[in-house]
Amino acid sequence: MAKKETPAENAQLKDIISHAKEYGFVYPSSEIYDGLQAVYDYGAYGVELKNNLKRLWWETMTRTRENIVGIDSAIFMHPTTWKASGHVDSFNDPMIDNKDSKKRYRADVLVEEHAAVFEREGNQEKADELTGKLAKLLDAEDLEGVKQLIIDEGITCPISGTSNWTDVRQFNLMFSTQVGSVAEDASTIYLRPETAQGIFVNFLNVQKTARMKVPFGIAQIGKAFRNEIVARQFIFRMREFEQMEMQFFVRPGTELEWYESWAEARMKWHLALGTPKEKLRKHDHEKLAHYANAAMDIEYDFPFGFKEVEGIHSRTDFDLKSHQEYSKKKQQYFDPEVNQNYIPYVIETSIGADRLFLLSLCNAYTEETENEKKRVYLKFHPAVAPVKAAVLPLTKKDGLPEKAREIVEELKYDFNIVYEEAASIGKRYTRQDLIGTPFCIAVDHQTLEDNTVTIRHRDTTEQERVSISELHGRIAEATSFRRIFEKL
Ligand code: ATP
Repeated sequence: MAKKETPAENAQLKDIISHAKEYGFVYPSSEIYDGLQAVYDYGAYGVELKNNLKRLWWETMTRTRENIVGIDSAIFMHPTTWKASGHVDSFNDPMIDNKDSKKRYRADVLVEEHAAVFEREGNQEKADELTGKLAKLLDAEDLEGVKQLIIDEGITCPISGTSNWTDVRQFNLMFSTQVGSVAEDASTIYLRPETAQGIFVNFLNVQKTARMKVPFGIAQIGKAFRNEIVARQFIFRMREFEQMEMQFFVRPGTELEWYESWAEARMKWHLALGTPKEKLRKHDHEKLAHYANAAMDIEYDFPFGFKEVEGIHSRTDFDLKSHQEYSKKKQQYFDPEVNQNYIPYVIETSIGADRLFLLSLCNAYTEETENEKKRVYLKFHPAVAPVKAAVLPLTKKDGLPEKAREIVEELKYDFNIVYEEAASIGKRYTRQDLIGTPFCIAVDHQTLEDNTVTIRHRDTTEQERVSISELHGRIAEATSFRRIFEKL
């Protein structure tokens, strides 16, 4: 049997999905037409969270390191790019259909999930044997063998429960479209399946114009598109998503040292953002991609198990060399220190903005019961929380709204602040808990007398009295990226 989520795992993910929809984080795309599978839209708080995560990644790359600069390359690229990168010929997933349920699966995922069941039952040996067999078959591109393995292991379709499988076939994941106004002139171009190639084809442009010396990196955030066979688990696997990729160009022979140091640096980054150590792990790839000489994933313990959030790959000189061959333009760098021309080797760190978003949401989602009352809140790191503070006048009269508005004016150009006066103060606190606002600032009658307010802290619900003049400093201290950077 393919792995089925346990009811508890399912329930937790379901709670998170419905919370995300109800409180303005993520909606199914074009929902009024019943949605489009594996495509999602971000709502008012979702877009703030996502932008904060992207900005944190961007600033980590481009500000904490002097030798990394950014670019923003186009989604469409010359079609030869994807020939050179290997995507036209080998960006495939092995797919298999169940003839009874008519459901399509990734054949490798069926086997991996089957192995995960053994792993969870404590039978690591059997799990390793299965993943080992799978890796060998995939390496040899033995698709018949993969089908046989599925049959031999008695893996059945979770929907129909049968093992009435089709053959395993390769399926290219790139979306294509046409450019050109006249049909005959039209030529097929692709929606980029990764942002990395936009960096590679600009390697020399950036190196020369930003006067970079190896080792140096180029960072980029942008949309990528993959026609994923199995689109499941909410925003974990989408057909349109966003990547945050950094290619680090190094002298040949030094790449494995850099690979290790980037793996460590990226793990530290996740920890600095507040993800607990026990929820993260490194996973070395057994089957290396055609371009890599070392590769690992950073995995997070999602409600559906440990899954990849970020990949760290030692891509050798594969991409630049291949672009040199196809374009017939030299992609070399002259290294004055060793007095040599060479094609640099590359370490890539690649993380999905949406997967990081899902990680943050899963990690933040907290249910607590006290005195038989359930409290749900999102425990985001204040630096990435969508709203930093809510300013709440205790009542709608006696000049309290005016005083509260003055505070909003003072804070709103530096922080995302909301102002709310409707409903009881308790209800307003709850609303802010549900979107993960770290601070609620209550303005009461005493405020008019002595210019103090109460700050209510999201995680502890504790309240303290502080002077209005302290607010800016307090919020800045808690929400600054600097606190995260200092831990790197
Ligand atoms: P997977 O094995 O999960 O398909 P991958 O190994 O193909 O991922 P990479 O090509 O290494 O992924 O892409 C780098 C990162 O981009 C991944 O770690 C992930 O965070 C993100 N990513 C890849 N595919 C998707 C997708 N379909 N939806 C959302 N994010 C994705």
